[in-house]
Amino acid sequence: MDQPSFVIHPGEAESAAKRLGVSVLHLFPLLVNPAKSLARHPISNFPVAAVGLGSSGRIFVGVNIEFPGLPLHHTIHAEQFLVTNLTLNSEPILRYISVSAAPCGHCRQFLQEIRDAPEIRILITDPNAFRDTAAEENDGDRDENGFVRIESILPHRFGPHDLLHKDIPLLLEPHDNNLTLSNPGEMRNGHIDSSDMKRTALSAANRSYSPYSQCPSGVAMVDCEGKVYRGWYMESAAYNPSMGPVQAALVDFVANGGGGGFERIVGAVLVEKKDAVVRQEHTARMLLQVVAPNCNFKVFHC
Ligand SMILES: [Zn+2]
Repeated sequence: MDQPSFVIHPGEAESAAKRLGVSVLHLFPLLVNPAKSLARHPISNFPVAAVGLGSSGRIFVGVNIEFPGLPLHHTIHAEQFLVTNLTLNSEPILRYISVSAAPCGHCRQFLQEIRDAPEIRILITDPNAFRDTAAEENDGDRDENGFVRIESILPHRFGPHDLLHKDIPLLLEPHDNNLTLSNPGEMRNGHIDSSDMKRTALSAANRSYSPYSQCPSGVAMVDCEGKVYRGWYMESAAYNPSMGPVQAALVDFVANGGGGGFERIVGAVLVEKKDAVVRQEHTARMLLQVVAPNCNFKVFHC
């Protein structure tokens, strides 16, 4: 297949599978390797790609993104990129995932925020990945396409079920945080573009998944051609694998920005609660200063 885009529509996937005489799930290993070329890995030189099938029949792609000049924990892993890509496209269920290398513990944990995570089926295309693992012992779990349940690579899981009521919407499930700006007058008085950015950042904050801290936040970014990107904060029950709102907006930029460098980002707006116990402002400012030095960064409270 040609180099994949970050979202493959069901018709495209089906016709590609038909051309090759295989099922859509058999395409996964064929998509993972070319997708690695979309990764940005200047530190590790280790490209990773993850491909996921949602309940809509769309296939989503994620890759790892590294940021020279920043500590390693700011890195976006391919699986996190993939899940962010699902949320940006309002995909409610992830059914299958294929990754080029065994997911790290951090990503196995992050995936737990998806409803029925243990039942998601995973295929690791690296032939060495299952060597000497519990999953190898559980080979009976492997389906006819080679996928195993995520539970077999993360047994005894800690996740949202340990901390949240079962009715609280999980990461991919639709919800609205019902936030409004603390000073909406500011929006009306501002420059029209800046008010659009604020609105986009507010609506991103309203989709933020922060059930553990109740501190939602969202980011809007604009590039030098005026194209706007957005992303929102997504928490993990284990806290550390949480995904910051700037990283999420950078995923939108990589997926939809046509492949340019981050220096093309010229403006960003963060919306978060004033005096929140978890605040993004300082980290977001520092991250953008390093990654997108031309970026004019503003913060508004909701
Ligand atoms: Zn990872």
